[in-house]
Amino acid sequence: MTKRIYNFSPGPAVLPEPVLREAQEDLWDLAESGIGVLEHSHRGKAFERVIAEAEADCRALAGIPDGYELLFLQGGASTQFFMLPANFLPDDRVADYLDTGAWSQKAMQEAGYYGSVHVAASSKAGGYRHIPAPEETHWSERPVYVHFTSNNTIFGTQFRTEPTPPPGAWLACDASSDLFSRPIDVAKYGVVYGGAQKNFGPAGVTLVVVREDLLQPPVRELPTMLRYRTHAEQGSLYNTPSTFGIYVMGRVFKWLLAEGGLAEMERRSAAKARVLYDYLDAQDFYTAPVRPDSRSHMNVIFRTPSAELDKRFVAEAAKQGLDGLAGHRSAGGMRASIYNAFPLAGCEALVSFMKDFAAKNG
Ligand SMILES: *Cc1c(COP(=O)(O)O)cnc(C)c1O
Repeated sequence: MTKRIYNFSPGPAVLPEPVLREAQEDLWDLAESGIGVLEHSHRGKAFERVIAEAEADCRALAGIPDGYELLFLQGGASTQFFMLPANFLPDDRVADYLDTGAWSQKAMQEAGYYGSVHVAASSKAGGYRHIPAPEETHWSERPVYVHFTSNNTIFGTQFRTEPTPPPGAWLACDASSDLFSRPIDVAKYGVVYGGAQKNFGPAGVTLVVVREDLLQPPVRELPTMLRYRTHAEQGSLYNTPSTFGIYVMGRVFKWLLAEGGLAEMERRSAAKARVLYDYLDAQDFYTAPVRPDSRSHMNVIFRTPSAELDKRFVAEAAKQGLDGLAGHRSAGGMRASIYNAFPLAGCEALVSFMKDFAAKNG
């Protein structure tokens, strides 16, 4: 099959077509080396260039200031849930977490293995339909850091701006599902991390941006691979990294730069999301549970009047070439994930399908 369809998958997700085409060629022969990208040593010249360019392009794309290290790790954001507190949270100290749903919950649970967790704000009581406001947030006495999930992939909520941590605490962010979909002021953060497989690459590589002054010896004895310092000192080459993951991610950075960078991605994301939310607001067959001021530009959540119709919606949409619309297994309903490489035309096609479906089933 050579025809590609609209892929609304929440991750791994759609990648830019020019990147896929280039990868096809480089799989056979990278930079006229006679060796494909999958087959190069991570210690060789060809890969050295791949990783150096990926880092330089990432820095240029996001304006990452000096004084921050970029690490290309494995284990997903789920590994960062424990690696971060393992390195930075002493047994007798507290970290503050903002709870906006399942991913925040997982991050908190893992931090609990190392220190104490204080839930500074939570939207759980309201079914995770909004992002807690500063007035709803109550910091602990002296937290080491404040952790938040910038976009909640499952519930479809997104912070408009980053929270301001109390004095003395630094900001940590799981940005797995919106990193590089809009400009980011890295200087406001101690650590930002995210798996590449949503907005900027394939599964298998996790980007961690960490402020250099935090890279002191960790607060406890840790195995070598668990120390951020190890990876910072070795340029993410202490062991074999995800070479292909880093290669594709690097090519996506080049694509993002060529397409106009993060401000342009923010504009496109807003335009794509608007197509869906404007339609949802203008009809009464579907419901959109997220409070308008907290709506995600990455994952648009909606449902029909019944679980049975939701199922039919997902199945019939797939037949029309609109794939991956089922909501997370814990949430039900539908979820349209519209990351960087997802085209506006796909959102328009979805709205047109939604209109037909509502007319037939309403
Ligand atoms: C997808 C996702 C994760 C999990 O990432 P893995 O790479 O599967 O570990 C964590 N946090 C958020 C916000 C996500 O969207």
